[in-house]
Amino acid sequence: MSRERLADLIREARRAVVFTGAGMSTESGIPDFRSPGGVWSKMRPIYFDEFVSSEERRREAWTRVYSGVLGWTGAKPNAGHYAVARLVARGKVAAVITQNVDNLHQDSGVPSERVIELHGNATYATCLDCGLRHELEVLKQSFLGLGEIPSCRACGGLVKTATISFGQPMPPVAMARAEAATLAADLFLVLGSSLVVYPAAGFPLLAKDKGARLAIVNREPTEQDQFADVVLHEEIGAVLGDVVPAD
Ligand code: ZN
Repeated sequence: MSRERLADLIREARRAVVFTGAGMSTESGIPDFRSPGGVWSKMRPIYFDEFVSSEERRREAWTRVYSGVLGWTGAKPNAGHYAVARLVARGKVAAVITQNVDNLHQDSGVPSERVIELHGNATYATCLDCGLRHELEVLKQSFLGLGEIPSCRACGGLVKTATISFGQPMPPVAMARAEAATLAADLFLVLGSSLVVYPAAGFPLLAKDKGARLAIVNREPTEQDQFADVVLHEEIGAVLGDVVPAD
């Protein structure tokens, strides 16, 4: 059966790459932003150019961050995240490429240098000018208490959550790291992505072209199921909890 096939592929792998999408985090209660009922069906995204050019839009963006309306506040890693962390700790998985911005791979124990974030990270902010990291808890006090839109304490530049906004290019360093990891992979394991959003959706076939095995665990069928060595349309936590048991 498919779970045994997936277990075999993982057993044979020496430098697997895990690729995670929204389905990974829906099992932690974070809605898929792009799905019906997700955040972008309820409110319009704030594009990067609007954030930079409009104080009103910056205020709206920060109001969203602290209202919890974006959905990731307080979320915890699920069984799938912990199984991935075990694979990394056991030396099976060289890198975790994620489209998620919720920091749950790091929270589950994957070292941050092993996590490649294609869409950035929503759990902290950075200065758009000098790149200095700012903690949301620190900015919260002056924003909610005094109404001050966050600015950089070092250079005065605009501060934004460290996500890649609509209208912002894909991050070149993360994309290059993801491509290098993919080219080196002997198993490419897709978890919770429907594989429709390019350029990220190109990675599985890039790995496959280089001779890697391809495994997909996603509740719904994906665009690339026909290319995979094993496909499971099941919950990630249930599958990986079974296939990658704790010691
Ligand atoms: Zn700065």
